[in-house]
Amino acid sequence: MKPLYPLFLLFLLLISTKVAAFDEIRIGILSHRGDTATAINWGAMADELSWQLPEYRFVIVPLDFDEIEPKIMNAEIHFLLVNPSIYVVMEVRHRISRIGTLSRVINFGYQNQFGGVLFTRFERQDIKTLQDIRGKHLSAVDPQSLGGFQMALRELTDQGIDSEDLKISFAGIHDEVVMSVLRGEADVGTVRTGILESMDQAGQIDLEDFRIINPQTADRFSQLHSTRLYPEWPFSKLPHTDDVLAQRVAIALMQMADTREPGERRSLRHRWTIPLEYQPVHEILQALRLPPYDQAVEFTFTDAVKKYWYAILSTVVFFILLAVLTMLVLRLNAELKKSKSRLEQQYSLILDSVADGIYGVDLNGNSTFVNKAMERITGWSARSMIGKNQHAILHHTRANGEEHPPEECPVYKTFRDEQPRFVEDDIFWRSDGTSFPVEYSSTPLKDEKNETIGSVVIFRDISERKKAEREARTYRSELAHMARISTMGEMASGMAHELNQPLTAISTKADACIRLTESQHFDPDRFSDTLESISLQAKRAGAIIHQLRNFIRKEIPQKNPVNVNESVREVLVLVGQNLTEASIVLELELDERLPAVQAQHIQIDQVILNLVKNAIEAMSALPQNNKVLQIKTELAENDQVQVSIIDSGPGVDQEIRQRLFTPFATSKKDGMGLGLSISEGIISEHGGKLTLASSSARGSIFRFTLPVFRG
Ligand code: ADP
Repeated sequence: MKPLYPLFLLFLLLISTKVAAFDEIRIGILSHRGDTATAINWGAMADELSWQLPEYRFVIVPLDFDEIEPKIMNAEIHFLLVNPSIYVVMEVRHRISRIGTLSRVINFGYQNQFGGVLFTRFERQDIKTLQDIRGKHLSAVDPQSLGGFQMALRELTDQGIDSEDLKISFAGIHDEVVMSVLRGEADVGTVRTGILESMDQAGQIDLEDFRIINPQTADRFSQLHSTRLYPEWPFSKLPHTDDVLAQRVAIALMQMADTREPGERRSLRHRWTIPLEYQPVHEILQALRLPPYDQAVEFTFTDAVKKYWYAILSTVVFFILLAVLTMLVLRLNAELKKSKSRLEQQYSLILDSVADGIYGVDLNGNSTFVNKAMERITGWSARSMIGKNQHAILHHTRANGEEHPPEECPVYKTFRDEQPRFVEDDIFWRSDGTSFPVEYSSTPLKDEKNETIGSVVIFRDISERKKAEREARTYRSELAHMARISTMGEMASGMAHELNQPLTAISTKADACIRLTESQHFDPDRFSDTLESISLQAKRAGAIIHQLRNFIRKEIPQKNPVNVNESVREVLVLVGQNLTEASIVLELELDERLPAVQAQHIQIDQVILNLVKNAIEAMSALPQNNKVLQIKTELAENDQVQVSIIDSGPGVDQEIRQRLFTPFATSKKDGMGLGLSISEGIISEHGGKLTLASSSARGSIFRFTLPVFRG
């Protein structure tokens, strides 16, 4: 038959020129193996259509891959017969539509599906599964070949084997793929179904020499295959092709059967069935990212809105919400920032408006913050303090000039034992090298986890207070001085009397001496006895005057060790005469082992004198033999020297008992009411206590204590 093909073509050409008056219907057909083969393959089909639809003349237009799309776009063909993958692309791009699916003659039957076969030479024991193909040399027909490449590649891709994992070569035609494997040029080959069987039948190969990889079975599909099955080539119409014509062509195709007598017309090689579903082809092209799925489909905005309106809507809502929330958060943030800076401002305003110095210390003893008052009081600037050791700057030396060791610093102790402390009397050092007296509190500083991170010190310059105290002391001693003079005034007659006695004695004795010298019986012994007596009385008078002078002089505010018994005796020198005059019986109980106290001597005398004088006055109205004054000194508990002045008077007036030690509390007509308040001030200042120990109709006990001096 082969030599006759060119003649057929010539014949066709003749007919076509002869019947040029007929409407020519052009069927574009993918031509792998050249125009002649295509014409031979499909010529009979065109003839048959021309026969069935006599008013048309159907012509085969062989097309290679690149020609297909231009021909469709220029409407130069009416129908198209191409492999399924090209059909799918054209369907998507140019809206061509299938009207039938090819059904090939296979083993005396017809088959409208096909697949791919993966095979190797039988002796290749190392290649049995799809996985074994990884890294091997694969021979395939063409990158665009559905059955001869793409189907096999999809199965491999499903196994995680990409084209990069293989060495691929394209042989162009199916037979050549088979032969390259047979020759050992490739490890594995892939061709469409039916090729191996037909080559075997034609005696070109022996099927026994090959092993099918991943062999599959399917209903009503008898050929060897390794992949899924896909619909056969579709016959499709172009959009411009008349629908009635297309319908008639479809009917003609369906009716085509090789039933006519041989020689009547050329025999048909194919049959046609109603168009199959080409979704599997879409899927494989999608899976392999091949056209039309090789790039993102052009998608208009409207398409996007239509398709994804809910996603777009929720995204828009989400973003609006996000924007609203962000704005809220930003506003909150701004407000937070504002209130934070307001708080900080207030915090520093409060810190700076406080008159006391405030500073923070971390666990290393370094200053962390200082307020304005601190800078003002100490002269140290915040910059020179912060981060520096506060003890070394402020607190290095004690008031007595000794070094103040850091480990004894109360500020350090505070964060070590976590106990707040208050120090009443200390000194801090200014930047100019001078010191000033302070009282301060040191409180542990905690963080939010309640862990101590340092201490806060609040201090006050107590120079003014100290000065006031000093002034008060001076005032008190002035007052005491005045009180002493006034007391002396009150006791002047007693004193005068006291002095009068020795002076009278001296004068009498002096007269006696004169008489002795004038006498003829001068007795030198008597004379010298009398002179001795004069001297004694003069000394006694001198002692009284000395005591008096001492008592009313201004005393330097200085404390010395004082023996309280001595003070009692000194006072008794001054009041001796008053006691005698008032017929008061004196009982002394002085503990001679009494330790000394640290005191201003005259002030202690003054207290004793006040108490004795009050006792004398209290007993003034008593009958003579009931007047008893007891003075008792002893060592009491807690290392205190205790002095009790006990009288047998009527007791302290109820009315003034409550305010006994306040100034101007008096029950006496000429009284000032200052004695007890001055005495109380003196004793407190000496660290002791003056109390009314008891008071009843049988008498009062005034008692004071003073701490023992342990020099
Ligand atoms: P003055 O002696 O000038 O009144 P004081 O302060 O010494 O001032 O005494 C205040 C008052 O306390 C006296 O007026 C008296 O009423 C009362 N008082 C003081 N000592 C005694 C005492 N030993 N017995 C009774 N009353 C006393």
